[in-house]
Amino acid sequence: METSFYCPFCHGQLYVNERIILSARTAGGLQGLVLLTPDLGDYRAIHHPEFKVAEGEHVDFYCPICHGNLIVEHNQTPFTRVMMLETGEEYEVLFSQVAGLKATYVIGERTIRAYGDDADENTNFWGATPRY
Ligand SMILES: [Zn+2]
Repeated sequence: METSFYCPFCHGQLYVNERIILSARTAGGLQGLVLLTPDLGDYRAIHHPEFKVAEGEHVDFYCPICHGNLIVEHNQTPFTRVMMLETGEEYEVLFSQVAGLKATYVIGERTIRAYGDDADENTNFWGATPRY
């Protein structure tokens, strides 16, 4: 069964042509579309060259269908939250919204998985160390 990613608000499918498509706005006010790979922990994002993000800059992400703001904050770190369906199980996927901060969490009913070099910094916040 194929993995799918969808909006937590409108449940619209965000996963098209093997990319997660989100609308984004940088702290500097630039707006654009960003395509993320579904390989969690891979932080190469595809976007138009004019959509420039500075290292450390905060980027807000929105559902391109209902325009809901996908932000959630944990421990003063902003994350983008999308839902993932994988082999029939629903997960919350949290991506860091700070450019260059590599932290992704996949939260299931009983499990937390962390991806990315910077993920450890936040592990204590969840009240449990992620079980890999
Ligand atoms: Zn939506």
